[in-house]
Amino acid sequence: MQYFLPDSQDLVDPSFDFSRETRGADRVRHRDDHYAHEVFGARAFDGILVSKAIVDGTGGAGQAKYTQAQRRRILREGVRAFFRVEERRWGPLVFMGDCGAFSYVSQEKPPYTVDEVVDFYERCGFDSGVSVDHVIREYRPQWEDDLFAAGDGGAPVAVRARQELTLELASEFYAAVTRGKLRIIPVGVAQGWGAHSYAYAVRELQKIGYRYVALGGVVPLKTTDIVRCLEAVQQVRRVDTRLHLLGVTRIASLATFAKFGVVSFDSTSPLRQAFMDDRDNYYTLDRSYSAIRVPQVEGNVRLRARVRSGEVDQDVARAAEQRCLERLAEYAAGKRAITGVLAALRDYELIHDPRTDRGERYRETLEARPWEACLCEICRQLGHHVVLFRGAERNRRRGFHNVWTFYRRLQRVFAG
Ligand SMILES: [Zn+2]
Repeated sequence: MQYFLPDSQDLVDPSFDFSRETRGADRVRHRDDHYAHEVFGARAFDGILVSKAIVDGTGGAGQAKYTQAQRRRILREGVRAFFRVEERRWGPLVFMGDCGAFSYVSQEKPPYTVDEVVDFYERCGFDSGVSVDHVIREYRPQWEDDLFAAGDGGAPVAVRARQELTLELASEFYAAVTRGKLRIIPVGVAQGWGAHSYAYAVRELQKIGYRYVALGGVVPLKTTDIVRCLEAVQQVRRVDTRLHLLGVTRIASLATFAKFGVVSFDSTSPLRQAFMDDRDNYYTLDRSYSAIRVPQVEGNVRLRARVRSGEVDQDVARAAEQRCLERLAEYAAGKRAITGVLAALRDYELIHDPRTDRGERYRETLEARPWEACLCEICRQLGHHVVLFRGAERNRRRGFHNVWTFYRRLQRVFAG
């Protein structure tokens, strides 16, 4: 099972000083910062998925964007040089390109032509490339009672049109790759609204010639629904057709997915959960812990607003913040009991997030001291800083640690 980490330009600054919270004076972000694979001495994922939408900067609000200079560089140098993966001693990373179909899901048609996408894949030198597709947002198996028939019960015309368009584009894409004798492995996208429509799409893609098929639009599906789709696909799948699940993590079910021909998937969840999830921020092999929130008075939007409105006294907030950092460091060094740390955290929480009491979760994290058991480079270097929910340098590193840990969970699933 291959795990692809989607690129969203997450890098960390190796010059960052965690006790002073300062950066090296000469640091140039694009030159000196490190990707996850540059941080670890062992493999933490099998490949990187790069979206055209992110490279072009059309990903929309909240999505990473390449600068013009980065965009020119990835097209000129190719993905391997761009991501500096040539010299990894633990072996090569596989590169998959896709269009980032979710970025244009609300448009009537994909904004790219097949030729533009093929050109992008070629210039970047991807190992595999996903055909241009259009996501179907609705999952409604009940529409399949009257499969592909017009009228009541069938899928709406607009939904079926998205599937047909995706298949047409896949056909064009396959032809372009074959005609150009391109080195890239074409990956056809199957879009559907229920198990049978997914199976139909896979059958059609195989007719075109695809032997690597990605199931799209499955992110919001329940695991049982994904299995239902895979069961239906299994009825039509050739033995030599391999499947990829776009954006699906579900580690507990990956062994089941593998029985239906799933050989790869991609997911940003391990990385994102480090700073997006309400509680599961730090992975271990067996469970997750909450990170400990010590927001920077200066850097926290909500806190700054409350300081401005006079609701919070800036000096009081700063003192509470510093007390948390000091006591956490003392606790990590074995010089302070947990009660004093929790008290300081609660005092500060009443300032930065008075409606929530995370005391019990913090107690769990602190008592378990999971950063001491982890063997990854991040935890070895950062110690307790890795569980602090504070600023991008710590939060992103915790995300990298999660990716590393997730990969070990994955190995364990497939080892037995
Ligand atoms: Zn770690």
